[in-house]
Amino acid sequence: MKTIILALLAGCSAIMAAMPSLAADTCGAKPVRYAINHVGGTQFEVNIEFAITGGQFDVGFHPSEAAPQGEADFITAMQARNATGDWQDVNYIGEGSWTLPDAKTAGYTALRYTLSAEHDRASWDIGKEEIAYGFDEAFYFVGSAVLPMDYSWAECDFEVKFDIPANWTIVAPWPKTGDNSFAVHGANNVHRNLFVTGPGLRPHNTVIGGMDVVILEQEAFREAAPVFQSLLSQSIERYVELFGSAPVKQYLVVFGEDDGNDGGAFAQSFGQRLPAPIRAHEKLMWGRALAHEALHSWIGITIRPKVHAELQWFSEGGTDYLTGKTLFRIGQIDANDLLFITEGQVRRYFLGRMASGPVSLADAGVEKQKNRQLVYGGGALFHLFLDAHMTAKNGKGSYEALWRSLYENSSQPYSFTQMMAAMDEASDGAASEIYAFLNAPFNPNTFLQRMTEIGLPTAAFGPDELLVRFSGNGCSGSREARCMPAFLAK
Ligand SMILES: [Zn+2]
Repeated sequence: MKTIILALLAGCSAIMAAMPSLAADTCGAKPVRYAINHVGGTQFEVNIEFAITGGQFDVGFHPSEAAPQGEADFITAMQARNATGDWQDVNYIGEGSWTLPDAKTAGYTALRYTLSAEHDRASWDIGKEEIAYGFDEAFYFVGSAVLPMDYSWAECDFEVKFDIPANWTIVAPWPKTGDNSFAVHGANNVHRNLFVTGPGLRPHNTVIGGMDVVILEQEAFREAAPVFQSLLSQSIERYVELFGSAPVKQYLVVFGEDDGNDGGAFAQSFGQRLPAPIRAHEKLMWGRALAHEALHSWIGITIRPKVHAELQWFSEGGTDYLTGKTLFRIGQIDANDLLFITEGQVRRYFLGRMASGPVSLADAGVEKQKNRQLVYGGGALFHLFLDAHMTAKNGKGSYEALWRSLYENSSQPYSFTQMMAAMDEASDGAASEIYAFLNAPFNPNTFLQRMTEIGLPTAAFGPDELLVRFSGNGCSGSREARCMPAFLAK
């Protein structure tokens, strides 16, 4: 079991490597067709029909003691159908990848395999909500864990069709073409989404900020569903107001039971896990996770990086920072909670600087899990300082206007250089200065001085005992909301 704070957002996966962009003529005339057939118990037979293949099929790779080949350990008996209609064994080449029986790819038109939905027997290095788990009597799956993908299909159309018992249903974020079938465009939307299938599912449909949102929870959270829905609605409505629109039309949110808090955000869905039943004293944990994962639809998935690693600090830090500010603004947390969150971000940065050494925030993202404290803590503080600077210079709302501008110009992914240039333009170069400050040789005193200057005087005893207070509005170090500096105040 992970400790709660460390588990929070531990596996958060909004920012995924971009798939290679390939022309649509790699797809053939018909959609690529995944047929998922439940054959009893935890067993599924899956058949993939395609016209053209690049010859390699991949699932995610998160090895663990009980599953040394990660997700691939739950996929067996994979065979490919060749030009003469014969089924041949494929080659497993390790790390979640299979190749066709021979070097030529022409003539192969189908793949089949057995999927054992027994992922709970492994302990995953990221959250189960990023892989698969038993969902009461049903099964929760992330596409990348159970549906091998040929990356030459990046821009193809897909049909995902289920053959399931009469009392089962499917909850997925994809457009329906029939009771048990869906049409999906783009490999990313197949791979980077979750779906749940089995008996007893009772999803709720609602419209939030113009999005059709489906909320599904395990039985243990049935009474909590209105609480989740309320927080989700208020957060998303604020995000829509801030960014100007919702990034997707359909959205699926799934809550599962676990010992700790964790969440994973996908293309049109997110999955969260938390202890059941929900308890009032844990709201700051699961509420933040919920609002964080929802915010990833805008930050990380729509405003997205060209290179996965180098903007992790920007996306995760920005999401964490704006989540706290939003929860305070909508009245879900109070000023003390916001201080607690800020103290945690400073602590993460201090400990992260000591643990990771003199590495830049961008380079730290190459090994995100190893450098988690620096990536999340340093990234959140970057946004805190940027907001303070922009608000002082250009007035309240100028930092939010930057977010809206980044969102409106997000038709293409951002490189590190493009992102810094956009932020520098809006802040008269403050973004580069703050980024350099956070990467400079670590000097806690200089850091504490800067916190004082923005109205958040901070005391530190070593790197781990932190006290942040408010000194806005003529106050001299208070926990009261009326003393917040202008950039944080409602
Ligand atoms: Zn995240």
